[in-house]
Amino acid sequence: MSVSISGRTRLAGIIGWPVTHSLSPAMHNAAYEAAGLDWAYVPLPVRDEEDLRRVLAAVRVLPFVGFNVTMPYKQAMLEYCDEVAMLARIAGAVNTVHCVDGRLIGYNTDGRGLVDSLAADLGFSPEGRSVVVVGAGGAAGAATVAFVLAKAARVTVLNRSLGRAEELVERIAPHARSTELAAGLLDAGAARTVSEAALVVNATPLGMAPADPSPVPAEWMHAGQVVADMIYRAGPTPLMLAARSVGATAVDGLGMLLSQGAMSLEIWSEGAQVSAPRDVMAQAAQAAMDSVARQGVEGTE
Ligand code: NAP
Repeated sequence: MSVSISGRTRLAGIIGWPVTHSLSPAMHNAAYEAAGLDWAYVPLPVRDEEDLRRVLAAVRVLPFVGFNVTMPYKQAMLEYCDEVAMLARIAGAVNTVHCVDGRLIGYNTDGRGLVDSLAADLGFSPEGRSVVVVGAGGAAGAATVAFVLAKAARVTVLNRSLGRAEELVERIAPHARSTELAAGLLDAGAARTVSEAALVVNATPLGMAPADPSPVPAEWMHAGQVVADMIYRAGPTPLMLAARSVGATAVDGLGMLLSQGAMSLEIWSEGAQVSAPRDVMAQAAQAAMDSVARQGVEGTE
C-alpha cells in the first residue's frame, strides 16, 4: 500500500507516547485509499504535555481533518479541546478529535467501538446483562458509558485502587437510568462478582508485556461467559488463555480497535458522509500486527 500525497492532501494522525508500533496508520491509510479520500494518517509522537500544547497549536493551523489520542493523553485532552461531546466528558477521556476551522472538538469512540465489535464478532449484546469492567482509567470509563447506553442491567468496575473505581462510578451514575453501577477492589473478594457476570472486560494494560499475569484468575471464570481483552498482540493474551482454559469465549482488542477507528473516520468525514471500509481496515490492521509481531514487539492504542 502506498499513500499518494497531493497539494490538497488533508492530514490525520495519532498523538501519544509511544506510537511507534501503533496499527492505526496502516489501518487508516488503507481505508483512505479504498474510500478515495485524499487524506494521510501519520504517527505524532509527543513526549510530554509541554510538547502536546505545541503540537496542538500547530494542528490548529495545519490542514488536519482530525486525530486520534492514545496513552498517556486521553484524559488531558479533555482540557485542550474547545468543545467535548457529552459522552466523552462523562467517560472522562477523549480518543478522537475533529478539527473544524481551527477548533478542536473531542469525542470518545472507544466504548461504542467495544460494544459494536462484541455485536459484530460474537453477536453479544450487553442489554439486560451483568458486566464487569477491570480497570478504572479512560478506556474503562468509555466502556462503562457504552454499557449504560446499551442498557446493561449492572456494571461493576473493579480496580486495584478502589478510589479511582468509585470516582468513575460516581461520575457516570447520575446518567444511568436502567443500569445499576458498582465499584469494587480487584482482589480475592471480587471472585463472585466476576463469576456472576455475563461479560468480563479487561481495561488495564495487564497483558501487554509478555510476562504479565492475567488480570483475572481462571478460577473466577467459567464456560458460558464472554471475556473481552482490550489488549491485542500476535497470540492470545494471558486473560484470553485463562478464560479459554475454563471454556469461556474470549476475544482480544483488535475488533475494538477497528470499530473505534472506523467511527473516527466517519466523524472526520462528517460532511462527505463516508462509510468506513471496515473489511479493508481489518485486513490492514491484521497485516500490520503480523509485521509488528515479526519484529518482536506488541502494539495497542
Ligand atoms: P489508563 O487510563 O492508564 O488506565 C489504566 C487502568 O489500569 C487503571 O485503572 C490502572 O489502575 C489499571 N492498571 C494499570 N496497571 C495495572 C496492573 N499492573 N494491575 C492492575 N491494574 C492495573 O489506561 P486506558 O487508556 O484506560 O487504557 C487501558 C488499556 O486499554 C491500555 O492497555 C490500552 O492500550 C487499552 N486500550 C485498547 C483499545 C483498543 O482499541 N483495543 C482502546 C483503548 C484502550 P490504577 O487506577 O490503580 O492506576
